[in-house]
Amino acid sequence: MHLARFPRLHFAHLDTPLEPLTRLSKQLGGPNLWIKRDDCTGLAGGGNKTRKLEFLMADAVAQGADTIITQGATQSNHARQTAAIAAKMGMACHVLLEDRTGAKDVDYNYNGNVMLDQLFGAPLSKYPAGTDMNAAMIGLADELRAAGKVPYMIPGGGSNPVGALGYVNCALELLNQANRISLCIDRVVHATGSAGTQAGLVTGFAGSNSLIPVLGVGVRAPREVQEANVFKLASETCELLGIPGAVKRDQVVANCDYIGEGYGFPAESTLEAIELLARTEGILLDPVYSGKGFAGLVDLVRRGHFRDGENIVFVHTGGSQALFGYRQAFNLPAYD
Ligand SMILES: *Cc1c(COP(=O)(O)O)cnc(C)c1O
Repeated sequence: MHLARFPRLHFAHLDTPLEPLTRLSKQLGGPNLWIKRDDCTGLAGGGNKTRKLEFLMADAVAQGADTIITQGATQSNHARQTAAIAAKMGMACHVLLEDRTGAKDVDYNYNGNVMLDQLFGAPLSKYPAGTDMNAAMIGLADELRAAGKVPYMIPGGGSNPVGALGYVNCALELLNQANRISLCIDRVVHATGSAGTQAGLVTGFAGSNSLIPVLGVGVRAPREVQEANVFKLASETCELLGIPGAVKRDQVVANCDYIGEGYGFPAESTLEAIELLARTEGILLDPVYSGKGFAGLVDLVRRGHFRDGENIVFVHTGGSQALFGYRQAFNLPAYD
């Protein structure tokens, strides 16, 4: 794999730090927990979409685009990061938001990521849950072309083979960091949604023959569907890299037991995980993705799923900006 063969813009703050979770590991017992701080990628508050956008925006430039179209849920972190980089590059960015939760509260609909999308100047439009969002993007692209624009469509979560290259890059970066400090990684754990993060990581670990196992903790789809989505995208990413078949089906593993009621609804365990990491390590997770991913990790540690002394790296994919859209989900005390 040679990532420099692909067009890329360099705007992420890399390498992101790899830090031990010392207090939390001591409190939970069992494995040594580490955190890869992809919440600190620098763009608009950071998050995992920034690595994908380095490759996607370079592709947009290569295709002569002047306008970006993308889509996501109301509190999409992907939309925020895309709106920010489009602003920096002097491009318009149309954001199509799917109302997946139907929540009526003002914070959810106007605070958090939505407020930031608007600060970055992105025009927003809202669609009911279940809308074919790709068809909606294609419709808007046709309108923009008729008006003389050159639109570039980025799929939800930036998850296509070009975007997944960002997480191939993360796998190589993490491997180098671990080698430098002689940290033998036994497993990587992270939240998995639109699949680009996990597809990129497994491709990077397979393509480098390091074969570090990855566990994706699902936030939306059932396990079979999630694993199939990740494997399909990983296979396409391998093709793009010229290493077809490098990822085997059994290297794609998801655990979807921590979703709770559904996408965008924090479960009790999500809120507990967010409080736990905040109060032991001073690190913010989010209610839609990283909080569920971390809840999965904490529960597996408590159940003795990992051996004592194993080194587990949680990839923190960001999202804390969404906390402000979910104030009412937390049982925070009144004060005076
Ligand atoms: C998008 C997102 C994820 C999931 O990444 P995918 O590549 O879509 O699977 C995880 N965490 C956060 C905070 C995200 O915004």
